[in-house]
Parts: sequence; C-alpha cells; structure tokens
Amino acid sequence: MSRPEEVLRRAALRGQLSHAYLWEGPAGPERLERARKAAAAILCEKGTGCGQCASCRAAAGHNHPDILEVTHEKDGLISVREIREQLVDDMGIRPYRSARKIYLVDEADKMNPQAQNALLKTLEEPPEYGLILLLTDNRNAFLPTVLSRCVTLSDSAENGPDEETEDVLCEKLRAALRRAPYLSAGEIAGLGTELKLRETGGARIRVWELLRLYWRDLLLERLGQTAGLEFPEERGSLRLLNEHLSDREAGRLWEAITEGERRTRANTSPELALEAFFLQLRAALRQENESDR
Ligand SMILES: [Zn+2]
Repeated sequence: MSRPEEVLRRAALRGQLSHAYLWEGPAGPERLERARKAAAAILCEKGTGCGQCASCRAAAGHNHPDILEVTHEKDGLISVREIREQLVDDMGIRPYRSARKIYLVDEADKMNPQAQNALLKTLEEPPEYGLILLLTDNRNAFLPTVLSRCVTLSDSAENGPDEETEDVLCEKLRAALRRAPYLSAGEIAGLGTELKLRETGGARIRVWELLRLYWRDLLLERLGQTAGLEFPEERGSLRLLNEHLSDREAGRLWEAITEGERRTRANTSPELALEAFFLQLRAALRQENESDR
C-alpha cells in the first residue's frame, strides 16, 4: 500500500513530479491536512518537510506564498470564475520563493464542467513550476480530458503501487522502451506478466501514466525542448527513438497510449493492451528503418 504523500515525496526527490495529481480519499479535514503537509514537504528547503526551515514554518502558518488553496463561495460548487481567478490566472505569476507553485483544490469534484474546461488548458500546458493537487472522493465527477492529464494518488492498494513496485515498474518499462526495436514477439507478449500487471492492481493504470510521461518527454525532445523532461536521464534513448519515428507515427503512438489506458480502464486484459502498444511501437520503428535502406 502506498500513501499519496510518499509517492509525491519520492517523485520530488527524483525530480519526476508531474504537474497534476488526482488525490483520491474520503472528503474531510484529514485529507486536506495531509495534502497541505505533502505540499510543504515538496517546497521544504531540505526536501524532507523538516518543519524547521523558513518554507516549512510559512506552510505551517498557512501563509506560504507558493501554496495556494482554491476556495469557493457556494457549498456545492466550484465555479468557473473561481478556477480562473484563483488558479488559471494566478499560475501565470511565477513562484515567490520556491521552485514550484502548488495549488490545492479540495473537493475538486465540485468543479462543474465549465470550471473543469477552464482548467484544461493549464493542465495541458502548465508552466514548469506549476503543480496542481485535485482532492476528491469521486473521480466520476471529472471530465475524461481532465482525468487523462492527472496522475492518480490513493491510499488503496488497488490504485497505488507500493514504493518498490513503483521503482521496479518504472525501471522495467524504461528498459523495454530502450530495447523496443529489438524486442521479439515473445518478449512483447511477456511484458504484461513481467510488469505484473495482473497481480498489482495499481500497476496496470500506472504503466500507462508512466508511458504518457515518457511519450510527453519524447515529443518535447523532438521539439528540442529538454528543460522540463520527466526522465532527463533517458534523453539519449528518446533521441534514438525520435530519429526513427516520423511525426505522424509519434502522434499515432501518443493516441495509442490514450487508447491503451482507456482499454485497461474498461477492463480489457491489461497484458493485451500493453502488448498491442509495444507491437505498434516496434512496427513503427522497423518500418522507418526499412524505408531508410
Ligand atoms: Zn523544511
């Protein structure tokens, strides 16, 4: 079982924070308090949530300039105006004292579709310092376009891979991507089993979240934008993949990742969905190789 704050802390230490998270858990002051502490730990000058540094003390006093909580006037609704003013527009202003600026949206499921749509552009093109935590107990209230841009955090074993699994999963997946052009059909068919997609409930979704981060890096590298990479150490293999992929194929594979996640969420065999993606990737890489000759 994993805890959202642990996942965030580790991602921060590895420089692999995403820009948006869906923090799932029962509504109430405890969830919000935990999210506040997690935000403080990310901004802590020692990287630990020490409670002693100036940043931690400001956070504890609820007056950290780079930790912002979206508030709403109506009980059951977070309006488009509130999201625009307190989050979308505010995010254009750089952090005051930290490397990041963190927005907490408690009961984020109370955003109506208009408010979620207002948030969408920020989710799609967040500034490098932007970090949004959407706290909710009802993921069904979110538009698919919003969900697909958030990494899910949860206390449950079902959705949160434990720490070791997370590292192992990430490492194995990256190894498979590096070797993608040379994988045999048998190896590709065995990937789902190797990554234990069936055994650990969280891994089957997490694998697509990781693939999406990786592919986002690949598209950034393609454009020569390497400042905000999630996996900067993979830059060499990203460049190699890019050399062998056309723009069209790179775009198609991005769609294939979305489709793979959709199929997995719809309870298609997670192994088959992953196999389909890697077969498509390998075909794209080999096709390009052959037309080179
Ligand atoms: Zn501190």
